[in-house]
Amino acid sequence: MQLWYSEEQTPHVEFSIKIDKQLYSGKSEFQRIDVFDSQEFGRFLTLDGFMQLTEKDEFIYHEMITHVPMAVNPNAKNVLVIGAGDGGVIRELTRYKTIGQIDLVEIDKMVVDVCKEYLPSTASCFDDKRVNIFYEDGLRYIRRYENKYDIIIVDSTDPFGPGEGLFTKEFYGNCFQALTDNGIMVNQHESPFYEKDAAAMQRAHKRIVENFPVSKVYQAHIPTYPSGHWLFGFAAKTLHPIKDLNAEKWNALGLKTKYYNTNLHRGSFALPTYVEDLLKDVENAE
Ligand code: SAM
Repeated sequence: MQLWYSEEQTPHVEFSIKIDKQLYSGKSEFQRIDVFDSQEFGRFLTLDGFMQLTEKDEFIYHEMITHVPMAVNPNAKNVLVIGAGDGGVIRELTRYKTIGQIDLVEIDKMVVDVCKEYLPSTASCFDDKRVNIFYEDGLRYIRRYENKYDIIIVDSTDPFGPGEGLFTKEFYGNCFQALTDNGIMVNQHESPFYEKDAAAMQRAHKRIVENFPVSKVYQAHIPTYPSGHWLFGFAAKTLHPIKDLNAEKWNALGLKTKYYNTNLHRGSFALPTYVEDLLKDVENAE
């Protein structure tokens, strides 16, 4: 007998991974949570059936969402992470001795508990004493703060279900308020490739552009996400992701990475023409 996990990426495309074993299945107040084990990708987490991370390719996502803003603002002291219950972003952030405080706002405690048990490779640093966990909706949490965080990382699920509010104009406006003058917000920005994902990506970009003077997009190759072509948003009050890249300082830290490096940092902001066009369409729209 063969067991396969399949995700419907469009009504006409499915992505499947052969699974050895289902390690966990449960339902929280917010979503269905599953963990599988597979030959090709190792263990992987899905929420409501949608791929969140696999042991084999999570390093790409977590390095790119964390080190890009850190290399532009290596003096960041206070960092806010929204979503990210698998712990991958926290693991990368705790490698910086210079960071004094990491606040994690995750709506679903069950995701954190399940990842601690079944995905110890990402959920490895929740006990770092700089990490404070708030089990709360990120949309509500962010309303209370002004001028507090140097970096905000939005590592959310897709823009439906509990993650929907994290793609709204109100949310991005409140992130802007919560950032310090050198503040940067980075978010997972969906994929430009399939029509529905591209539309979600454009909606998010438009709302970010309306709130932030600096709003750029960068890319990475993530094999298990729809189409494998994934985007991240970089939004800031003043800092530019390439002109203000502090490559020397970041390289002097001596952090060992598998995907991110400061040459790739620059290159990741060079986008294919069709993606540039999709972004320009909404930048210029009324
Ligand atoms: N990298 C993954 C991806 O793009 O597929 C996302 C990983 S992480 C598991 C996403 C987390 O965001 C989930 O654990 C989910 O519970 C959390 N989340 C969703 N909506 C949220 C909200 N409104 N506030 C805080 N956390 C939220």
